[in-house]
Amino acid sequence: MSDNDGKKPLGLRGSRPANVKQSFSHGRTKNVVVETKRKRVVVPKPGPNKSGGGGTAGGDPSRRPAGISDAELDRRMKALQAAKAREAEDTARRAAEEKAREEERKRRREEIEAKEREEAERAERAKAKAEAEERKKQEEAEAARKAAAAPKAAPAAAAAPKAGEERSPNFRSPAATPRRNERDNRGDDRQNRNKKSNDDARRSGKLTLNQALSGNAGGRQKSMAAMKRKQERARQKAMGGTVEREKVIRDVQLPEAITVGELANRMAERVADVVKSLMQNGIMATQTQTIDADTAELVIEEFGHKVVRVSDADVEDVIDTIEDKEEDLISRPPVITIMGHVDHGKTSILDAIRNARVTAGEAGGITQHIGAYQVTTESGTVLSFLDTPGHAAFTSMRSRGAQVTDIVVLVVAADDAVMPQTIEAIAHAKAAEVPMIVAINKCDKPEANPDKVRTDLLQHEVIVEKMSGETQDVEVSAISGQGLDELLEAIALQSEILELKANPNRAASGAVIEAQLDVGRGPVATVLVQNGTLKQGDIFVVGEQYGKVRALVDDKGDRVKEAGPSVPVEVLGLNGTPEAGDVLNVVESEAQAREIAEYRANAAKDKRAAAGAATTLEQLMATAKADENVSELPVVVKADVQGSAEAIVQAMEKIGNDEVRVRVLHSGVGAITESDVGLAEASGAPVFGFNVRANSPARNSANQKGVEIRYYSVIYDLVDDVKAAASGLLSAEIRENFIGYANIKEVFKVTGIGKVAGCIVTEGVARRSAGVRLLRDNVVIHEGTLKTLKRFKDEVAEVQSGQECGMAFESYDDIRPNDVIEIFEREEVERNL
Ligand code: GDP
Ligand code: MG
Repeated sequence: MSDNDGKKPLGLRGSRPANVKQSFSHGRTKNVVVETKRKRVVVPKPGPNKSGGGGTAGGDPSRRPAGISDAELDRRMKALQAAKAREAEDTARRAAEEKAREEERKRRREEIEAKEREEAERAERAKAKAEAEERKKQEEAEAARKAAAAPKAAPAAAAAPKAGEERSPNFRSPAATPRRNERDNRGDDRQNRNKKSNDDARRSGKLTLNQALSGNAGGRQKSMAAMKRKQERARQKAMGGTVEREKVIRDVQLPEAITVGELANRMAERVADVVKSLMQNGIMATQTQTIDADTAELVIEEFGHKVVRVSDADVEDVIDTIEDKEEDLISRPPVITIMGHVDHGKTSILDAIRNARVTAGEAGGITQHIGAYQVTTESGTVLSFLDTPGHAAFTSMRSRGAQVTDIVVLVVAADDAVMPQTIEAIAHAKAAEVPMIVAINKCDKPEANPDKVRTDLLQHEVIVEKMSGETQDVEVSAISGQGLDELLEAIALQSEILELKANPNRAASGAVIEAQLDVGRGPVATVLVQNGTLKQGDIFVVGEQYGKVRALVDDKGDRVKEAGPSVPVEVLGLNGTPEAGDVLNVVESEAQAREIAEYRANAAKDKRAAAGAATTLEQLMATAKADENVSELPVVVKADVQGSAEAIVQAMEKIGNDEVRVRVLHSGVGAITESDVGLAEASGAPVFGFNVRANSPARNSANQKGVEIRYYSVIYDLVDDVKAAASGLLSAEIRENFIGYANIKEVFKVTGIGKVAGCIVTEGVARRSAGVRLLRDNVVIHEGTLKTLKRFKDEVAEVQSGQECGMAFESYDDIRPNDVIEIFEREEVERNL
């Protein structure tokens, strides 16, 4: 529209103060010829008052003179002024007259209105009476009577019975009044509003009852948008004519995020239309861009389709979650976890039970193959024991969704007392709502005082049977074997009470007890089957991993074809190592398994990313594989001298607590090599270089494989970083950026300066202000600053790659040909790589 924004008014200066008009006609441009403009202004409505004002200001003749004497000019001016004054008077008088006349007219109109209202009222009353008799006929008769009584009111009266009068757009005619009384005082407001919206006839024509009733300002805005949509629809209709007619209302599946193209596709609308619709909502997006579900929902609604929100998580729906029918359930062995304070004899009891139950001939201690095993009591009950070290593991498994334990055996040494970890174990068992059996151990010892244990437990709301409580208690000795059978019977009894059941005839589900990467066999997971039967050849998803059961190995190390409920088995055939506590589900196809695993991996990645501040080191820590349920961070350490390497390894081994531990895969002296990088990659470890650098093949390889190499020159920094990563609290770090490298070709002695290195900058730039290190065979032998940076004879701030220069170190002289100078700058960065 506005093809010329340049302010032209200078050209028509004298004749038109055109801008006066522009101020009230928003949206119009300035360069429109005034006549045209006035016409436009007049059409909508408010013409009379303002265009009139414009008219008076228009004919100012005061600046015409040319080539006339001053006196003459003066006279003329006076005459003009007089004329003008007269004119003004005239205008004022005329205005007053006009006003009076207008008032007169108005009064008359009001009189007429009043009269008409009276008549209408009479008609109305008549109508009410008539309605009482016979409706249909009366209506016709009434219309006729009204038409006869008040010719002017006729059209409105005809419309009146339909209660649609507020729509009639006659802003001058009083015809809308007949039913006013019925509508009480609201009618006035409404008429005013109608007058306002009549500013724009197009708009008011389609005003709906809703819009008319909604708030004044709000209604206005809304109707603008509605008009836009209407125009759009009209245009589409005009263009294609098909859109409206063929419109099929679709259920549009809407995930958490969707590309514009896909959204259009799912609605079966044109991409261009979707983009346009987004634009109208103030969003600029191209076909390939992703928009969120809320935005997409708006668009879908605008197109008149139905939104069906779906979540990516729906891929998990294929996992069979059907409730088992009562008749399909058969009883299963209980799963028991032994908990208690350290050294109270958990391992000893587990071993004693296992060895006591091992068939004759294998006596003397059978090697335990997996972290769980089954025993059969004398009465024939099968029990599954889990060998999980500590309640932290128990709870972390629970937090991963695996409620694997049916019964907790709380071991308390009779020669000791209830200890901190005993209390924690009680808390964890209670939190999991798992029944407890107290095994009072070491009763063979002379100083054993089982009753002290019983009374101690009272304080922690564990009331044993001997204290008239509910919790079974058994005095045992792992050494002498005393009371072990009793303990097993107590467990069997408890499990009977629990009535544990499962359906062996369905797709298996279970929980990972432990998992590791086995050198010969690949990833191996010990899985406790919880429901269904896991069979060789089954396809499954487990945590973020999936696979097909290649082999099943039981607790005795024997291959088995299948494993039913409560049976612990080693599973081979995974694509990766899952984590303890991950849930295993058998699914129908490998595609499904992969899809679910990928979805979970992405979700986990997003979660980690959302958690922010996840450096590579931290990520490694987060994904560090569970070994005995302690997370391990594997690292490779290279240092300049044996002493530092040893110091670092020692410091690393001290880092860690119940949850995390640092494992030094390899430590050595000298530059970081390709083989170091390879080792680090295989274990997902970072490489720490202490005063050493990676040689260039190693650097390339690390870049390719995404292995992180971190350089340090202070042991504490290294240790602090690892500690921080372990506790997930990496703060902002001072990062060194290597900005250049230079090779020393010759060394000169310069009087007054000392030794100067004649160098060539091989990479990046050498900067006078930057930090420098002297490397000899990729080992840092000095770190400091430059005393001088010379190009030919001149002191310079910078020397570019490929150029020769002279460098001398501040207070350091041991430089030799073939040494490398590393130039670096420090910056503080947030750790959120
Ligand atoms: P855990 O840390 O709870 O697994 O405890 P352990 O099973 O490792 O046992 C710790 C120590 O207590 C070991 O030296 C065991 O020999 C000893 N111990 C365990 N049970 C008994 C017992 O019933 N009697 C005696 N005298 N010593 C026991
Ligand atoms: Mg132990």
